[in-house]
Amino acid sequence: MTTFVDAERAELGPVLDADTCIVGAGAAGITLAMDLAARKQHVLLVEAGAESIEGQTQNLYVGEQTGVPYYDLASCRLRYWGGSSNHWSGYCRANDPIDYQPRLQLGLPGWPVNGQELAPFIARATKTLEIDTDFFDPAAQLRRAGFDTSQLLEKQSTALVTKNFQLARNIRFGPRFRPDIAANPYIRPVENLNVVKLVLDQHGRRVVAAEARTLGGKTVRIVARRFVLAAHAIENARLLLESDDRSPGGIGNGADQVGRNFMEHPQFQASRMIPSDRFPALYDFQYLGNFRLNANLSISEKLMRERGILSYYCRFMPVYAEEEVSRAVSRLPNRLFQPASQGLFRDVVTALGDPRGAFAKYVVRDMHRYVQPLYYMLEHRTDQAPNPDSRVTLADKRDKLGQRLVRLHWDFTDLDVKTFATGQDTVAHELSALGMGRFQLEPITMDLLRDRVKGHYHHMGTTRMSDDPAQGVVDRNQKVHGVDNLWVAGSSVFPSGGYSGPTMMIVAMTHRLADHLATQSAAA
Ligand SMILES: Cc1cc2nc3c(=O)[nH]c(=O)nc-3n(C[C@H](O)[C@H](O)[C@H](O)COP(=O)(O)OP(=O)(O)OC[C@H]3O[C@@H](n4cnc5c(N)ncnc54)[C@H](O)[C@@H]3O)c2cc1C
Repeated sequence: MTTFVDAERAELGPVLDADTCIVGAGAAGITLAMDLAARKQHVLLVEAGAESIEGQTQNLYVGEQTGVPYYDLASCRLRYWGGSSNHWSGYCRANDPIDYQPRLQLGLPGWPVNGQELAPFIARATKTLEIDTDFFDPAAQLRRAGFDTSQLLEKQSTALVTKNFQLARNIRFGPRFRPDIAANPYIRPVENLNVVKLVLDQHGRRVVAAEARTLGGKTVRIVARRFVLAAHAIENARLLLESDDRSPGGIGNGADQVGRNFMEHPQFQASRMIPSDRFPALYDFQYLGNFRLNANLSISEKLMRERGILSYYCRFMPVYAEEEVSRAVSRLPNRLFQPASQGLFRDVVTALGDPRGAFAKYVVRDMHRYVQPLYYMLEHRTDQAPNPDSRVTLADKRDKLGQRLVRLHWDFTDLDVKTFATGQDTVAHELSALGMGRFQLEPITMDLLRDRVKGHYHHMGTTRMSDDPAQGVVDRNQKVHGVDNLWVAGSSVFPSGGYSGPTMMIVAMTHRLADHLATQSAAA
């Protein structure tokens, strides 16, 4: 049985020795530690926080922000055991083939690995996340949930495609894997210990140590054969930038790439659709949301390529007139006075066995029979174009540990505007042609985007993966270019973000990294 070492209380001594030191015990760090341990590789897992959230540690995430307003950096990610996965919503989907492609419009290469190479790791990620493997097939998923799929819009328009996510219901990485880690003799977990800097050898080719501190004032030097940064997309860049003693501008930053191309999954609401009876209720966000499913309307890859845009989807957010809702709710009890039947008996049994499910199935579904939304607001979401000016740098101000604060500048390019606008126009054009609704369209401009956009707490980019050191920070195996024993795990390595939540791809890529590190050890 391993004990979790609290760096603040334990006698650590000035030096901690390790074979592989993983910095950060979030989705990526925990996945990697478990995989390496399964291959009998010894791991030191260093986590800044404790088992649960604590104010002073969380405050180390405070940062400065410029550009398009973004969430407070101290609250849009979490600095304790399990990391940001402690608050994640669990929506999972792997990249689509187009997401791996070069961004020719921007002169940027695509992912150095493709979907085929990643397929076995995506399959492994579904097991880790305890989700089914049919997440690519909305029809199969909807059929299994008992829905009629004849109304899927791709059956009526070659320009439209339905995309869905799957919910990982049970996985909060911290609590889920803590007992497994406690029982694992190959993992040494140390908590309340913040890595603040990496130290390179005199040639700048190897990390010889990581300097780590506690908020109580202890300093520890971690010496390891190899290091993996798994500290979350923004912090991975911060640690590299902060480690500038032997490497001006920070480690891996010879080509001035560290921190650049910060990406989110931007979303905002614009334009309305007044639905006709022909619009399938399946696409009403609330309707399927009650079944923990979703059907998002995307556009075909062919059209995306033809128009030179990135991944896009639209959700239909119902807006009801207040009086109609209250009238519908007041009508519902009448159903209880309908003559008893076997069906009613069955329903009562179901309701008693699964009150939540029954509520969703019988009440919310019924609402749709009685009430047409007045209109739908269109909610648009895209793959943000990599933008070198959307970036993480360091501010002058320092935190309690002496580390410089991060400064996040979030901004967009014309390609983002084009993607949103083309997506909206395509959806409106196709649904109008099918007689499914009338549209009141707002022109999508850069000003509108900057004014309304929100993120999804999905942080990507900043240590981009590329075979070419001039265009990225890590290579295809997530090793920092030019440094022999330093790797980066997590969505900071994503060259582009697709429009899916990043965690499934983080887990898949981390399984792949674990295989690579294990093979590397065997060779050594
Ligand atoms: C509200 C919310 C909803 C979300 N919903 C979804 C969703 O539906 N689908 C989806 O795919 N994703 C979602 N996400 C994103 C998801 O949580 C992240 O993609 C994922 O947790 C990132 O994993 P990670 O290991 O890279 O970082 P994290 O999980 O954040 O882990 C990083 C770890 O490193 C530690 N650390 C940081 N700095 C240091 C340091 N210097 N020294 C030591 N340790 C350090 C942190 O304490 C943390 O434990 C959501 C996030 C939030 C906040």
